Amino acid sequence: FRFSRRPDIGDKVSVSFEFFPPKTDEMEARLWNTVTRLEPLQPKFVSVTYGAGGSTRERTARTVKRILTETGIPAAAHLTCVGASRDAVNAVIREYDALGIKRFVALRGDPASGVGQAYTPYPGGYENGAELVAGLRAISDFDISVAAYPEKHPESPDFATDIEMLKRKVDNGATRAITQFFFDNDIYERYVERVRRAGIYIPIVPGIQPVHNFRQVANFSSRAGAHVPAWLAERFEGLNDDPQTHALVASAVAAEQVMDLVERGVSDFHFYTMNRADLVVAICHMIGIRAHDATAAAEGFAAA
Ligand code: FAD
Repeated sequence: FRFSRRPDIGDKVSVSFEFFPPKTDEMEARLWNTVTRLEPLQPKFVSVTYGAGGSTRERTARTVKRILTETGIPAAAHLTCVGASRDAVNAVIREYDALGIKRFVALRGDPASGVGQAYTPYPGGYENGAELVAGLRAISDFDISVAAYPEKHPESPDFATDIEMLKRKVDNGATRAITQFFFDNDIYERYVERVRRAGIYIPIVPGIQPVHNFRQVANFSSRAGAHVPAWLAERFEGLNDDPQTHALVASAVAAEQVMDLVERGVSDFHFYTMNRADLVVAICHMIGIRAHDATAAAEGFAAA
C-alpha cells in the first residue's frame, strides 16, 4: 500500500461520479447533500442512472437538469433500449436534448424480468448498446459513454464477441467506455491490452465500486459477472454488524485499488457512489483530489 506517493498526483488524475435518481424527498435531500460534498472535487462529469424499462425517465431527467442548473457540473443521463420502440427512445433523447442534456451513457439495459434473464429486444427497438449509440449520433453530436466489461458481459460467449460489441459501439460514435466494477486490477489491465489490440483507442475508464455493504456487493457481483476475490471476502469477514470498521476497511480497499491503478498509468476514474459521499471523498483525498478550500487550509496549516 504505497502511501508515499508524490503529493502532486491529484493534478493528473480526474474523476467522475455516478448517482441514481432519488425516489423520495428524503432520498433527494441525501443525494443533494452528496452532490454538494462532491462538487468541490471538480469531477470531469457526473451521471445519473436509468431504471429498467425507463421507469425513472422523468426522475433521471429532473436530476440531471438540477445538477446542470445548480452546479454547472457536466452531467450525463443514462439511457437504455429496454421495452421501447426506436421512436419512443428517440423521443426521450429529443426531450433530454431540449432540456440542455448533451451527454449520455448509452446502454442496452437488462430485461424487466431481472438481471441474468434472457434479453429480447423490443420489436422495432434498438437491439443493443451499439445501435443506441448510432441512434444518438444520428440525432446530435452528443458526448456518449458506453459500458465495457473487463470480465466480459455474462451473456458474451467469449472475449472476442464481447470486444467486437465494444468495437461496434466505438465505430458508431462512442466517446469513452466505463467499465463494470472489478476488484482485481490485473483483470482490468489484461482487458485494456485486449481492447487496444482490437484497435479500440477510446478511454476505458475503470468503474470503481466502494464497498458500502459487502454482502450486497457480493450478491450483485455474481449477476453482473464481476468476480469477488477470496482476499476481498476475507477482509470484510465478520464486519456485517460493525459498520464503522466496515467503512474503514472499504475506504482502505478502494484507495489501495485506485492507487495501484494510478501506478499502472490510469488517470481517469468513475465512482459508483450509491449516492453516498463519505467513501468517495476519502478515496479522492488519498489520491490527491481535494476540495480547493481544503487544500488551501492544509497548505496554510503546513506553512504555520
Ligand atoms: P450491449 O453491449 O449491447 O450487450 C451486452 C453484451 O451482450 C455484448 O457485449 C455482447 O457480448 C452481447 N450481445 C448483445 N447483443 C448482441 C448481438 N446482437 N450480437 C452478439 N452479441 C450481442 N443498466 C440500467 O438498466 N440502467 C443504467 O443506468 C445502467 N448503467 C450502467 C452503467 C455502466 C457503466 C455499466 C457498466 C452498466 C450499466 N447498466 C445499466 C447495466 C447494463 O444495462 C447491463 O450490463 C446490460 O446487461 C448490458 O448493457 P450494454 O449496453 O453493455 O449491452
